[in-house]
Amino acid sequence: MTQFPIDGFQSALWFDTAVTAPSTEPLNEDITTDVVIIGAGITGLNAAIELAQNATNVVVLEAGVVGGGASGRNGGQVNVGLNLSPDALVAHYGQAAAEPLLAALVRTPQTVFDRIKQFDMVCDAEQTGWIQGAVTPKRLAEQQRQAEEFARIGLQIEELDRATIARKTGSGNYIGGSFIKPCGSIQPLSYTRELARVALDAGVKIYSHSAVQTLKRRAEHAGWIVSTGVGQVCAEQVLVCTNGYTDSTVSGLRQKVVPARSIQVATEPLPAGLQERILPHRSTLVEKRRMVLYGRYDRDGRLTMGDHGPMRDQFCLDDFTDLKNRAIDVFPELEGVRWDYHWGGRLAITKDRLPFLFAPTADLLIGMGYNGRGVGMGSMMGLAMASRLLQRDVEHAFMPVTTPDEFVLHAFHEIGATMIIRWDMLMDRLEESRA
Ligand SMILES: Cc1cc2nc3c(=O)[nH]c(=O)nc-3n(C[C@H](O)[C@H](O)[C@H](O)COP(=O)(O)OP(=O)(O)OC[C@H]3O[C@@H](n4cnc5c(N)ncnc54)[C@H](O)[C@@H]3O)c2cc1C
Repeated sequence: MTQFPIDGFQSALWFDTAVTAPSTEPLNEDITTDVVIIGAGITGLNAAIELAQNATNVVVLEAGVVGGGASGRNGGQVNVGLNLSPDALVAHYGQAAAEPLLAALVRTPQTVFDRIKQFDMVCDAEQTGWIQGAVTPKRLAEQQRQAEEFARIGLQIEELDRATIARKTGSGNYIGGSFIKPCGSIQPLSYTRELARVALDAGVKIYSHSAVQTLKRRAEHAGWIVSTGVGQVCAEQVLVCTNGYTDSTVSGLRQKVVPARSIQVATEPLPAGLQERILPHRSTLVEKRRMVLYGRYDRDGRLTMGDHGPMRDQFCLDDFTDLKNRAIDVFPELEGVRWDYHWGGRLAITKDRLPFLFAPTADLLIGMGYNGRGVGMGSMMGLAMASRLLQRDVEHAFMPVTTPDEFVLHAFHEIGATMIIRWDMLMDRLEESRA
């Protein structure tokens, strides 16, 4: 039974169905290493594995537990692409910087699923494709344009007409859409715990309940002293992978991301007949509009659905009413089913709606800002950060290094974000009423 208030992590469906958590302790001594990574989520742990497998000593410091950030709470959709289309990314970064990034975007889902196989990760991985549903002609035209742009860089996206998308989703809600075959889903907390298991096996030291409080330059040597108050780590280099949970440890960083919330619900395991009608091929679904709605099955046939949440970390049942109604609008057959799980977490929104790899100094790398797309992109960012430290070529260190803009009036971000959500909902309604 869901308690009030709802804790966004321990109330998650994933918390009940994940593989066992890795055994980790708090840091309570002073140690030395090559690289310290702050944050044990998808980004930090992918970077840790890659570095450790390339003869680098790595320590990961995590404020809570492995996967306790967004990585253990998310929708588990392994998707492709960013908020800008391929052509817009070229305009944004310039051709030379955009090319390796675009190539990396195209290979994102396959890379994630290949690594899951390579490391024998138990995380309910299913490569069943991603359906993007359009509710207005404007959104459909946008999707068709994106499909053409992706085709030019080597990713074939299948366009779906009204009848086909109705068959693939079991919903009459969409006028058309697209299908991207290499995408799919994972159990996100299992994926993150399995990343930690692989990292530990590779020699990475992971400390939980070890929030970094200060990051200081070493007095007489190159590198950093990273302190949790109880213990400290001396390291040559620091990677910051804290995404929506970024605090004030790194001066000025907090102002570069707004921690928006996303919430999810999961049904009871649906009867076989219903599973044959709703998303019969177990593809993942995203309804493309300003306020996206997303959904998928878990391994036991529970349908999970998610959208935006209120700007706080603890939720109450009322917060989920609109989401459930939206889910029933799309799949009327859900009327009357039991909703067994309610949860949510933080994602990081950036000013330009793109992730960033920021290097304030050569020995401090910051990778975050996935704007809700961090399962695939966070995995890739972790690899890109490691590749940069390992001084690999641009194909691997594909993420352009940029200086992200700050949000002016960041102190008022909760009010600002709430207003933007209301505005976006209104604009969605207007667009749909005109269609
Ligand atoms: C409800 C929800 C649904 C989502 N669905 C999807 C989806 O289906 N597909 C998708 O691609 N993306 C999705 N996302 C986004 C995705 O989950 C994130 O982008 C991704 O998990 C980010 O991973 P990360 O490792 O960078 O950060 P996180 O997993 O958030 O980890 C950051 C970690 O840093 C730690 N930390 C912070 N400060 C400190 C400190 N001072 N010291 C030590 N540790 C610290 C935190 O405790 C946290 O564990 C969703 C997000 C949410 C919230």
